[in-house]
Amino acid sequence: MRGASAPSRGAGRDHQVPARAARDAPEVPEAAVSCADEDAVDAVISWFAHAGRDLPWRHEGVSAWAILVSEVMLQQTPVVRVLPRWQEWMELWPTPADLADAPAAEVLRRWDRLGYPRRALRLQECARAIVREHGGEVPRGEEALRALPGIGEYTAAAVTAFAHHGRAVVVDTNIRRVLARSRTGHALPDRSYSAAERGLAARSLPTERLRSVAWNQAVMELGALVCTARSPRCADCPLAAGGCAWFAAGRPAPVEDTRRRQAFEGTDRQMRGQIMALLRRGGSVSDEQLLDLDREDVPRVHRCSASLVADGLAVREGGSLRLP
Ligand code: SF4
Repeated sequence: MRGASAPSRGAGRDHQVPARAARDAPEVPEAAVSCADEDAVDAVISWFAHAGRDLPWRHEGVSAWAILVSEVMLQQTPVVRVLPRWQEWMELWPTPADLADAPAAEVLRRWDRLGYPRRALRLQECARAIVREHGGEVPRGEEALRALPGIGEYTAAAVTAFAHHGRAVVVDTNIRRVLARSRTGHALPDRSYSAAERGLAARSLPTERLRSVAWNQAVMELGALVCTARSPRCADCPLAAGGCAWFAAGRPAPVEDTRRRQAFEGTDRQMRGQIMALLRRGGSVSDEQLLDLDREDVPRVHRCSASLVADGLAVREGGSLRLP
């Protein structure tokens, strides 16, 4: 499960599960125990039908691979920044085999400014594993998906739901927040994702497969667009009329919210991003150019350069760094 900075993500043109879903019909067992609030499910799915965003990875005919790539890109990165990169990647590398064969330096260049560039290399490792072990097709089933490089609980569930139209407990930051407010009456979810939260998400999931897919899409979108962390727009929310415990209680403030946004300025993460930007631009960067980034903190420059090499994102060659 991703942490608190998990992505907001979009939803399709309407809440209906695409026609191909009926054909796919994966063998996913329906839940033995579900206590979904069916009125709330109806309300959220109906809301999504007119309010969900039209995002290309939700269109009819989009491959499981394309959806997997979108899910990885959307982790930690806003939709608006992902859109052009995803479209470019799909033109360049429409199948796992295409990405598997690409030069690593080109993969990192085309990742551009999506951040956390290790994700790009992990995606390529994932593509190679899909080619090697699954004949180039994204496997079905959360267990098989989680065995792929870089695919965790969230991505496996999301691909199962959105690509293969299976019943899966999808829990991202947006869904956590909506469930915390609507089902438990808390202003915010706990700082760390817990088994109790997963249990709540599992119990909130409709039993019927296609309805569960529609719920996952719709509730995620509700968290992204309406039930936002800082300014929930309850007046526009389909759950405000009896489906939200926190709203019904008068939106009490969190008991204690000691969360702080981590400062970015001056961090190693910022400098790693600056070095990667130089590498993407020129392919290599000299030690002198690196020192120009912060001559007052040379150890930091060295530390960040070394960490990029250790992560496989750069290669040291004499007095310079280059893309792998
Ligand atoms: S009523 Fe408000 S707090 Fe409750 S789910 Fe809707 S937007 Fe979130």
